[in-house]
Amino acid sequence: MPTTLTRLKATLTAFLANERFKQLRRKAHRLSTKDTHWSDLEYPCITAQHEWISEHLELESRGLAILQRISRLESKSTTTASDNDVNATVQGSKKEPREDTRLTVPEKATLLNTFIKIQQVIKAHLATIPPGNTTAAFEIDSKNLEPGTGRRAQWFHGRRLCAERGGCCARGCGCCERPVTKYIEHLLEDGKGRWTTVPLYGHCTAECGCCIRERGVYEPDKRIPDAGVVKGI
Ligand SMILES: [Zn+2]
Ligand SMILES: [Zn+2]
Ligand SMILES: [Zn+2]
Repeated sequence: MPTTLTRLKATLTAFLANERFKQLRRKAHRLSTKDTHWSDLEYPCITAQHEWISEHLELESRGLAILQRISRLESKSTTTASDNDVNATVQGSKKEPREDTRLTVPEKATLLNTFIKIQQVIKAHLATIPPGNTTAAFEIDSKNLEPGTGRRAQWFHGRRLCAERGGCCARGCGCCERPVTKYIEHLLEDGKGRWTTVPLYGHCTAECGCCIRERGVYEPDKRIPDAGVVKGI
């Protein structure tokens, strides 16, 4: 039978071993945090992360330019021949739209096909994300959606740049506040699947109809196909 002294000794040894383990764990955690922090400050590492984020935002902006051109030309198709003012979109008009402002089916197909290809490139690009605190923050922002609207944190961060470039965020039109498009997504919640509508938000590109009307000049976005370009403003 172990004596009281032996039992106390065993308890004390176990306690010290546990404390030692906790100490080592704390030290290891400090080291890993410190390492990540310092490696993030190394020039090639941080540059790779910034470059990846820039590439990703550029791809998203290219897709957005396509959607904005489609949206602009489709809304123009309701403008009548007598309207000289490009702002004059006639809601529910029975007059025939001008023939030359319509986006033809092949033109729209070309644009949509390019948009789908860009979305595929974006998906592949996500798999190449370099590790680090900067890209981790970017990922967190991507998943941080505003309740009610579904706008990503990046959308909020992009407002200043949009305004500085003379985009709609510099005016009271509220174009960027509205989704450019919506798509349907299948979600699995509590073991049950359901379909939901996901809005897609962005900021102005060279194809934003509101910005073109504001400036009175149309300089097509060179990153996307020419489909619909001749229709101008
Ligand atoms: Zn606007
Ligand atoms: Zn705009
Ligand atoms: Zn904007």
